[in-house]
Amino acid sequence: MGVSHQRRLLRRPHSAGRDRRSFRWAGGPCVSPARVSGRGWYRHERLRRVGGDGGRLDRAALDALRPPDGAALQLAYTIAGDTASGALTLPDGTRYPLVGVRFDSAAASLIAPTFVPVSGSQPPVVMLRLDDTPGTDRDFLQRLKARGLTAEVAVPTRLVGRGNNLTWSELGQWRAKGMGIVMHSRFHLKSSANAQHLIAEIVGGFAEMRAHGFATNVFVQPGTWGDSIYFDAPQKLATWRGALLRTFATVSECYAYGPLLTRSAISPLGIGHVTISDGASDARIRQYWDVAQRPNHATVILVHTLRLRAKDRLDWFLNLVATAQANGTVRVVANSQDLFAASPPPREPPDSVGDSGIQIQPQTP
Ligand SMILES: [Zn+2]
Repeated sequence: MGVSHQRRLLRRPHSAGRDRRSFRWAGGPCVSPARVSGRGWYRHERLRRVGGDGGRLDRAALDALRPPDGAALQLAYTIAGDTASGALTLPDGTRYPLVGVRFDSAAASLIAPTFVPVSGSQPPVVMLRLDDTPGTDRDFLQRLKARGLTAEVAVPTRLVGRGNNLTWSELGQWRAKGMGIVMHSRFHLKSSANAQHLIAEIVGGFAEMRAHGFATNVFVQPGTWGDSIYFDAPQKLATWRGALLRTFATVSECYAYGPLLTRSAISPLGIGHVTISDGASDARIRQYWDVAQRPNHATVILVHTLRLRAKDRLDWFLNLVATAQANGTVRVVANSQDLFAASPPPREPPDSVGDSGIQIQPQTP
């Protein structure tokens, strides 16, 4: 169905009309305009809904908004289900595609708190990450625990408990043992995803985490996402999609920044990772580890436990990490926010860890 009808309205004072429901654009309940990148973003406005019958699945509206300078902005949209899509057009003709998804008003409380990364020199910090909650995580988590190590577990909310996957109850038990539990979309689809899908997977995923008692503001991007939601460059975050992430996440573990850079060269909203499963050789893993131990580095080390050739495949590496942790040469955290947090008082700096000059290519998913 196309545009079924259009009306043209002048924006009225807020007291006009009984229908006070508002649409908030580009990301569901309330994307903070301050977090939207780019120029010319129109400030949040309460819009009078056109039609008002609330029962049509497909309709259109066209509002003319008059900001104080008198210039008119045009907003046109169609609604299908709970999603509005359309465009805001500036007086100069610049057109901004928009999408809005209606969520329960409780979603507004999912907005991430302000997160201030610590800058300056820091001892090296690493984080092991287990993705997707496969049943093979059970054995690996025991191997971590046996060594006094912790990890971040990235959870696709709708896959928890499915088949042999970890259950919410197990996740609670592992959290009690120090593991971090974070959000990894809802369905982990192989998708290039339209706007509605992205919003539902981000906001919906955070809402479901909280509903299960695992409130978090950390998002891990599924490697199965493509095109405009495959966040493999900082520029891809300078969009409304990035604004969505900035609104709801303190840290987005994506692919936008190389995984082995200094902390000052990466952003919490796009930190990458290295993968030490999926056939990575011992030599490659040792290269990663060499860089990760350098001062002022913050490194995410991903393990797909499902793709380990043998359960004990990485025991040697876990022993290295545990030894470094015990010696205080590396700090191991279980939540990616802590990669950017202040360190405890420094211990003696390692004297054997220096710049080896090894060049390592960026990781692909
Ligand atoms: Zn995944």
